[in-house]
Amino acid sequence: MPNTPQDFARVYAKFQAPISKRYDCGKKCAPLNQGIPVCCDHDRAVPVADKGEWDLLRKRTDLWSIYTPKNKTEQKEFGGMAEGCQSIVCKGAKFCERENRTIACRAFPFFPYFTKEKELIGLGYYWGFEGMCWVISNLTIVEKPFIDEMIAACETIFKKDQDEYDTYTGYSATMRGVFTKRNKKIPLLGRDGKLYWVLPDGGKVVPATKAEFKTKLAKFPNGL
Ligand code: SF4
Ligand code: SF4
Repeated sequence: MPNTPQDFARVYAKFQAPISKRYDCGKKCAPLNQGIPVCCDHDRAVPVADKGEWDLLRKRTDLWSIYTPKNKTEQKEFGGMAEGCQSIVCKGAKFCERENRTIACRAFPFFPYFTKEKELIGLGYYWGFEGMCWVISNLTIVEKPFIDEMIAACETIFKKDQDEYDTYTGYSATMRGVFTKRNKKIPLLGRDGKLYWVLPDGGKVVPATKAEFKTKLAKFPNGL
């Protein structure tokens, strides 16, 4: 049974914490992206909303509209989405309505990370945005309320939506494969608020330190 617009309204109400109260990360990445925060730049990231989420948003606001794929590659990518899912774009960062951001906006650059044994242990990140998203280079600034609220939102959604669950167990496996090919450890934000590495070749999870994260994460271009 899919999540309804009412389900998404409840998730929105409980998932409001910013990644960090101290840092406005948009001010870090936007100067290197023609003034637009990277995750709000439709040439770089297009949110996908579940049917229930899209039904909620279009009733609540005129901020969003359906995204038209720009080329055949995008047509193929968005055409392969689960039934009812919709790629959508907002009017732009200047017009952002905080309460009407999608789950994808609220969660970026993170996704729920599952171990090989399918345990949801924390947050992985969209590695394709390394070097563009300042947060990915500065994972230690992420605050616990954000982690708690994002994990709770995901667990609520997964209760009714097996496809979403399958998507992220699969995505976690893909991340392990990518980092194993690179022979790199995955930096992980644990749901317990602690830092971890996921080791290549097997996906074993071991504790990490703040100092290691500060020196070993993918660097942001201007050294910030
Ligand atoms: S989450 Fe990343 S891409 Fe989005 S505004 Fe913050 S630093 Fe920029
Ligand atoms: S709704 Fe706000 S956070 Fe989401 S893409 Fe638009 S400007 Fe960015």
